[in-house]
Amino acid sequence: MDVELPFFKIITRPLIPIHGSWVDAFPVVVMFVFFIVSALLLIVAVKKTTGRRIVQSVSLFIFVFLIHRCLCVIRGWAYGIIEIGRDDLVAFENLCMFVLIIGFTLLFGRIFCGWICPLGFLQELSGHLNRKQDRNMGALILYVLLLIIAVGYLVFFRPATDFFTENLAAIWSVILVLFLILFRLRPIRRTKNLKYYSLTAWVMLGLLSVYLTNPWCVLYGDELDYSSLLALFVVVSAASVHSMAWCRYLCPLGALLALVGRTGMIKLHSNGCKGCINRQCEQVCSSGALKNGEIEMAECVLCGECIAKCNMDIKICS
Ligand code: SF4
Ligand code: SF4
Repeated sequence: MDVELPFFKIITRPLIPIHGSWVDAFPVVVMFVFFIVSALLLIVAVKKTTGRRIVQSVSLFIFVFLIHRCLCVIRGWAYGIIEIGRDDLVAFENLCMFVLIIGFTLLFGRIFCGWICPLGFLQELSGHLNRKQDRNMGALILYVLLLIIAVGYLVFFRPATDFFTENLAAIWSVILVLFLILFRLRPIRRTKNLKYYSLTAWVMLGLLSVYLTNPWCVLYGDELDYSSLLALFVVVSAASVHSMAWCRYLCPLGALLALVGRTGMIKLHSNGCKGCINRQCEQVCSSGALKNGEIEMAECVLCGECIAKCNMDIKICS
C-alpha cells in the first residue's frame, strides 16, 4: 500500500514491516528503548539534563524526521479497539503506541512527557527563548496576535467541507489562547483541572467518531493539515511566554498520563524545604509541579531538573 508522507520524512517505508504490510514494528521497538534509557538516565545519570536533552533530540529526529509512524495515541485507540478480532493488524497499528505509552507510564510515571514527547521538547525549547515569561505586556500582545491569527484562519481560510472535524486543532488553539489571556488578566484557580475537561471532550469526540486533529498531526500526518500547523505554531509560540502552556492546561494525552502516572514507581520527594527566598526548584520546574517545596506527582514529568537545584531525591517505590 502506498501512503503519502510529509516531505520532511527521510524514510518513507516501514523498517520492520509486519507480514509485509505497511504496519511497522520499528517505532514500537524504538519507543521501548527510549523508555528504558530515559528511566535509567533519570535514576543513575549525574548529568540528567544532558542525558534528557540527548534523548529528546534523538526522539524528535526519529519520530518527526526519520520515520513515518504517528505518535498520536489519542486518535487511534477507539478505532483500534473496534478492530480487535476483525483486523488484528489494524488493531495493532492503532493500539501499539497507546498501550506502550500507557503501560510504561503506569510503571514509571510521566517520563514520556519529560523525556520523549517531541511536542513537549519543542515547547521547552521555545520557553528557553524568553526567560521573562508571561508577566510582561509583551506576553499579552503575543496572545492577542495569536488569537487574531487563529480566529482569522478559522474565519477566512478554513477548509469548508466539515468545519468542526477539519478544524479541531485550530479550535483547540483558540481555546488555549483565550484561556491564557484570561489567566494573564486575572489569575484563575484550579487551572490544572482544565486538561481533564479537555481529555473528557477528546474522548467523547473520539467515541462520536469525530476526526481528532491536534498540534501533533502536522508532524506525523499523511497530508499537510493547516489546522494542525496553525495549532502547532500557536502552542509553540505561547510556550515562549508561558512555560509548557499546552501541556499544563489542554493536552489530552498529558491529562491521561497524569491520571495513570500516579501509580508510577519513580517518585520524587523533597528532603525538607528550607524555604529559601528565590525558590530555585520552582523556577526550574517548567511544569508547575512544585509549590513550597512539595511536588504534585500528577503534574511532575520527571524531568529531574529540580534534583540538581534543590534538596530533592528520587525514590523508587515497589
Ligand atoms: S503533556 Fe502532551 S504535549 Fe506535553 S509532553 Fe505530555 S504528551 Fe507531550
Ligand atoms: S517537580 Fe522536578 S522533576 Fe518534576 S517536573 Fe518539576 S522540575 Fe521536573
